[in-house]
Order: sequence, then C-alpha cells, then structure tokens
Amino acid sequence: MDEKIIEFENVTMFYDADDEEGNKAPIPALSNVDFSVEKGEFVAVLGHNGSGKSTLAKLCNAIYEPNSGVVRVKGIVADDDEKADEVRRIVGMVFQNPDNQIVATIVEDDVAFGPENLGVEPSEIRRRVDEALEAVNMYKYRHREPHKLSGGQKQRVAIAGVLAMQTECIVLDEPTAMLDPVGREEVMQTVHRMNKEMGITVVLITHFMDEAVKADRVVVMDSGRVVMQGKPREIFSRVEELRSHGLDVPQSTELCHILGYGEGVLNVDECVEMITEKLGGAR
Ligand code: ADP
Ligand code: MG
Repeated sequence: MDEKIIEFENVTMFYDADDEEGNKAPIPALSNVDFSVEKGEFVAVLGHNGSGKSTLAKLCNAIYEPNSGVVRVKGIVADDDEKADEVRRIVGMVFQNPDNQIVATIVEDDVAFGPENLGVEPSEIRRRVDEALEAVNMYKYRHREPHKLSGGQKQRVAIAGVLAMQTECIVLDEPTAMLDPVGREEVMQTVHRMNKEMGITVVLITHFMDEAVKADRVVVMDSGRVVMQGKPREIFSRVEELRSHGLDVPQSTELCHILGYGEGVLNVDECVEMITEKLGGAR
C-alpha cells in the first residue's frame, strides 16, 4: 500500500482580499504544506477554525490551484481544465452543508447528476445509481424529495453521488458538523464501510476527536501548516501539544490523562480497562 494518491509538495496558498484602505492584502491559508495520502488509507485531518483544512480539501479536488508548490493526484497536476476534470474523476468531495449539495428534486436524479456529467451511458448510470444508493442504505428513499430527508440521510445521498462517479478517493469536509448524533453515526458507518469494503481512500476533515480516533492516520493543522501527524494512539498521547493547537482529546483519553493513569487511551472500552487495571492493582 505505498502508492500515493494525493501528494502536496511545499504547497502555499493565499486568498486575495482587500484591507480597510482597499489595498490588496493576501490572506495566507496554507504555508509550505507537505501532505500525502496513500491509496486505501483513511486519513483524518484535524485543526481549529481557520487552520486551512477546507483549503487543503479544495486543492485535492482541483477546485483551487496552489500559489506555489505542487499538488499531484495520482501524478496528475491540475494545471488546465482538462487535467482538473481528470483529477475530479479520481477524487470526489462531500461538503459540510448537505443542503448546498443537492441539485435535483428526486433522490435518484441527484445521485445520477455526477455520472451524467461524466457522459456515462444511461443504462450504466441506472446501475451505478442503484448500487450507490444500496451502499449508503438509501435505496428505499430513491423516489423521495431530498429536502424532506434528515441531515444524515442527505449526506448519505451526497456520498452516493460520489460513489456513482466511481472515484477512488473521497474527501469529506466536516460532513457531520451539522448533523445530530444519529445522523453522524450513520454517515461515519457509511464512510468506514466505503473504505473497508470498497477500498475507497478517505480523507475525513472533522472537528470530532472520536471520529479521528478510528482513522489509520491523523494529520493536525494549525495556521496553515501541518503540525502533527501519526497514528491516532500516538497523536492522542500528546495531550498538551494538541491543546497548544487549540484541540481537545477524546473524553476517554482526557479522563485517563487527568487521573495520571496513562496516555493514548482511545475509547470508552480502553478507558474502563485501564481504570479497572489501575484500581485492581492498587488493592
Ligand atoms: P478551515 O477549514 O480549517 O476553517 P480554511 O481553509 O477555510 O480553514 O481557511 C484558512 C484561512 O483562509 C482562514 O484564515 C480563512 O479566513 C481564510 N479564507 C478561507 N477562505 C477564504 C476566502 N474565500 N477568501 C478569503 N479568505 C479565506
Ligand atoms: Mg473548513
């Protein structure tokens, strides 16, 4: 598994804006970022607001071009429209607000929109749409109106839209931020299934630590830079360092850290095990 699907090399990106006097004042969004994703990997990207996560996501999907440095998607640099289209056949995107991604008035038409744009044959589109809706557990809602669905259901329809384009990689920019706990869980299960069962590479941008815990690798951003990366257990052992970047740790990690019982506990089960062991040992 060491084929790189996404590769950022020394990428710098800023937005043009005007300051109060109307002079051009570029706003830095990414500074000298090196970042890569291997085929089949599940990478979580963390960082407080304004740290550059969405900018990174949009560069993966050729929505933006970097001001300097290079972004490669399977070796392709999206420096013209044709190559940008090629990149978008490899990397699909799901955004935070499900309502901004719906383009049709019927669920199955919405899912068909992507492959239609790619010029896929109608019979093949039919097959892909059904398969994609099955994969996200939304097949029985195929004739419904998307705006009447719950947030979690809408996000699963958006994911089906990406699946129907058969991209190898999906970048999700805080897909659960606007969802209730049930919707979050539905979406996270779907994303994990896509990764494990379909082999789709996942880049999940999130501010929920418990979502990052389940990734293969965690990347932490701060002020447009990648400041930490490693396996979840390693990253969540560095409690104070995470705090210095404005992030919390999962509650179970925090509890064991406060109790002085040890670092790198990732979930409730491990926390219970750790406490039981410590209390048992003290008896
Ligand atoms: P995040 O997703 O981590 O919140 P962003 O990538 O959205 O971070 O933003 C990084 C920086 O770029 C922030 O300072 C933000 O204010 C700025 N920024 C983002 N989008 C724009 C834009 N369209 N115009 C101007 N500045 C922007
Ligand atoms: Mg963002």
